[in-house]
Amino acid sequence: MDKPYRIGMLGKQGAGKGTQCIRLSEVLGIPHISTGDMLRAALREGTDFGKAAGEFMERGELVPDSIIVGVVAERLAQSDALNDGFVLDGFPRTLAQAQMLEDTLAPVGLKVVINLDVSTEVVLDRLSSRRVCVGCGRTYSIHSRPNRNWSCDSCGEEVIQRSDDTKEAIARRLALYDELTAPLIDWYGQLGKLISVFGDGDFDLIHKEIRSAIDSVIG
Ligand code: ADP
Repeated sequence: MDKPYRIGMLGKQGAGKGTQCIRLSEVLGIPHISTGDMLRAALREGTDFGKAAGEFMERGELVPDSIIVGVVAERLAQSDALNDGFVLDGFPRTLAQAQMLEDTLAPVGLKVVINLDVSTEVVLDRLSSRRVCVGCGRTYSIHSRPNRNWSCDSCGEEVIQRSDDTKEAIARRLALYDELTAPLIDWYGQLGKLISVFGDGDFDLIHKEIRSAIDSVIG
């Protein structure tokens, strides 16, 4: 087994990255490192990092690289990520972040990047009905609620609608994805690290496809 796993995940907002990353983290026994979850936790705790990031997040803008890059590098240097690897969710989103990541993880960099491919039409519908656990980041929707009221089935914390799942912020986030993040699909393709998986369908089937993609590289 060619460990540590070092897995990246690209895909539009609402493509299902978070849910698939949580499952991968459970079955592979590796940390799920989500920059969105890290930022939201910092915001709730009122740290300097959270305060600096909050206004950008609310508007659906990207948090500047000067704020995010150091925090990610620090997280990747912790022993669980160093020993076992990780699945990275929401990072990189710009070419500068991708370059930083390849440099930090040199000489091999990320081992594989999954592109979870879902149309804009489908993600728009998913985002407007999405609800998220404030504790563990598990996602639900108004069509698929937690078992007890709006308490998370996994950790019991409150399940809410994210403050940036408004119409304006969603439009801005998707536009930024097209402009800044989508070019990374070709970039990782040229490095020979990209595998695309069609992400509109049954959750378990998509999970299996992602597993086979990872096994074909890391197995
Ligand atoms: P989504 O992908 O659905 O927008 P995330 O939970 O991944 O949601 O991120 C929420 C917000 O956190 C983003 O809109 C952005 O403001 C900020 N953010 C997360 N990851 C990054 C990143 N790698 N670079 C810059 N900003 C980020």
